[in-house]
Amino acid sequence: MTGLHAHLVARINADGPLSIADYMADCLLHPDWGYYATRDPLGAAGDFTTAPEISQMFGELIGLALAQAWMDQGGPTPFALAELGPGRGTLMADILRAARAVPGFHAAMRLCLVEASQPLRDAQAQALQGHDATWYDNVADLPDLPLFLVANEFFDALPIRQFIRDGDGWRERRIGADEDGALAFGLTDATPQPALAHRIADTRDGDLIETCVPGTAIAATIGARIAARGGAALIIDYGEWRSLGDTFQALRGHAHADPLEAPGTADLTAHVDFESLASAAAPAAHTRLTPQGVFLERLGITTRAQALAARLSGEALDAHVAAHRRLTHPDEMGTLFKVIALHPANTDPPPGLSQ
Ligand code: SAH
Repeated sequence: MTGLHAHLVARINADGPLSIADYMADCLLHPDWGYYATRDPLGAAGDFTTAPEISQMFGELIGLALAQAWMDQGGPTPFALAELGPGRGTLMADILRAARAVPGFHAAMRLCLVEASQPLRDAQAQALQGHDATWYDNVADLPDLPLFLVANEFFDALPIRQFIRDGDGWRERRIGADEDGALAFGLTDATPQPALAHRIADTRDGDLIETCVPGTAIAATIGARIAARGGAALIIDYGEWRSLGDTFQALRGHAHADPLEAPGTADLTAHVDFESLASAAAPAAHTRLTPQGVFLERLGITTRAQALAARLSGEALDAHVAAHRRLTHPDEMGTLFKVIALHPANTDPPPGLSQ
């Protein structure tokens, strides 16, 4: 049994079965054994690949969209350019390179990175050499400035809880251990859940829904800041407007794995419930939830792809064409991934998105 597995069994023996949120938090971020705390999980040699790692076009277009939103709000100076969960720093490096074309943007920005993983903070520092970045543990600690923010595949990594409808109450799915320490799912008795009152009307007995308390708390902090100080947030992730069904999943070596097997060695995620983020972000306004492929097309990815293709040939050109397809095609990331923006109620939505 690994150190993390023994720690989880000890917690279960002391306090009873763990919520999925408690399990996820330990598996992902335990300081000694957590998945993100101990490794760089991205890329071909890792467990999963993200849009900025597929092509520079993704970050360039996001950078220009954020810079346009900044200009549309009069170019507030100074402002916080923030990223949540910046991974290897690739997205921010591409954003900064593209935004260099926008006069005043670099001089006005304070570069802020919210990152829990030390190995990834190190990778980000490497990717962003020459820029003056500050790292934060929490969104609440960001400087009190107009906030232009991006979060790609961040909210899916935050701990969720699962509840199964039973009459007017809810049974929570929890994780227990048998005498040999094998982990297994179980259910609590049904209890009322006032926070789920809005889901009584659209669910039936046996339906499973997921909640993400840390995600809604972060959305509330961002929304309050943007409403008070100005700015815009682009949130990109897999998920739906409203959660229904079990989406808790583990990825190891680019393949699905059992989330209870070998804790701490796989990426654990769940689909994002965008409605709960948008609601929590009020009084900031939110845009329509938009498929990533549509968003990138509206920002001009095909024109950009053609410009880059003109300089490529052979295998490099094939890889570039495949990357364009992977980011935008409905059978790849184009529809599963979605984008929503938060913005002040008295401003237009950022480019590529509508109310
Ligand atoms: N945005 C990057 C990486 C996505 S992976 C990309 O698109 O490539 C998820 C990122 O969120 C990692 O950087 C991970 O370390 C970070 N992360 C996960 N949970 C976090 C938390 N609670 N607080 C801060 N960062 C977190």
